[in-house]
Amino acid sequence: MVGNVAVGGDAPVSVQSMTTTLTSDINSTLQQIAELTASGCQIVRVAVPSADDAEALPIIARKSQIPVIADIHFQPKYVFAAIEAGCAAVRVNPGNIRKFDDQVKEIARAAGDTGTPIRIGVNAGSLDKRLLAKYGKATPEALVESALWECSLFEEHGFRDIKISVKHNDPVVMINAYRLLAQKCDYPLHLGVTEAGPSFQGTIKSSVAFGALLAEGIGDTIRVSLSAPPAEEIKVGNQILESLGLRERGLEIVSCPSCGRAQVDVYTLAEEVTAGLEGMDVPLRVAVMGCVVNGPGEAREADLGVASGNGKGQIFVKGEVIKTVPESKIVETLIEEAMRIAEEMREA
Ligand code: SF4
Repeated sequence: MVGNVAVGGDAPVSVQSMTTTLTSDINSTLQQIAELTASGCQIVRVAVPSADDAEALPIIARKSQIPVIADIHFQPKYVFAAIEAGCAAVRVNPGNIRKFDDQVKEIARAAGDTGTPIRIGVNAGSLDKRLLAKYGKATPEALVESALWECSLFEEHGFRDIKISVKHNDPVVMINAYRLLAQKCDYPLHLGVTEAGPSFQGTIKSSVAFGALLAEGIGDTIRVSLSAPPAEEIKVGNQILESLGLRERGLEIVSCPSCGRAQVDVYTLAEEVTAGLEGMDVPLRVAVMGCVVNGPGEAREADLGVASGNGKGQIFVKGEVIKTVPESKIVETLIEEAMRIAEEMREA
């Protein structure tokens, strides 16, 4: 459990992000956590690089609507502070701490006593020098060996409430690392393509990598890393889970790519319908089709749809044509009907 979110086993895959505010700026951090929560984030991580950040943790952990993970790199005292503050989990690599002071045992005890899980997060960029020398670079084998070695430092003290990540910026290396890790251990896994890039590239990289792994049943929590506001990460993460059928679908727009047969401007139509239905909280499938070749078939399969042609749109609801409207009325009619169907779904 990370707070009240079950992780691993048969639990649903959950979506995480990380705040970009200074953690010591409590109001801004809580504000961003509230925005993330509203966009569907289930677990949030905050960076704790300084004493001021550690001091902010009790209020943040108490006031956050979702479980808070404290992300700590080198300072054992912040790990103890995070556990005392009631953080739902701590991300820390015991290998880093051992270099400074042998406090791994005390951390294992404090985390065990309070039921605080620990995420061991190995990244290509921060791979142990010993393993870099052995493998030459951050190969899947190097990442996995590093992660399992980190785990063993806790296991020596009987602590196994662990989640692992082995992130890499190359989706192929990352996929192979997680596959190998899944063969070698039973711990829950947190998926991430690290430094995935700006929105477009990061979305593609993460979708490809998470899609491959989640389809094989590998992965328990996910974080899409984008050089973009964190709420964007949540939108993408949730959409990945919906696309794989790992989460109930919300609004789904089935729209055709258009072609020489199209008799309406499909792009504009699809965009306007998507914008008009943004935030729809029920699983509604809306088909926007450009002509009568595939249009009626797809529109019939959806909860609601339009098959366009000859300056008109045939509006379908649950497979039946309910009306034909002029092209200028297609968007408003679809939105009206969508609202009506959504209301019925909520009442049912
Ligand atoms: Fe082309 Fe019609 Fe198919 Fe759209 S539905 S891609 S317009 S054939």
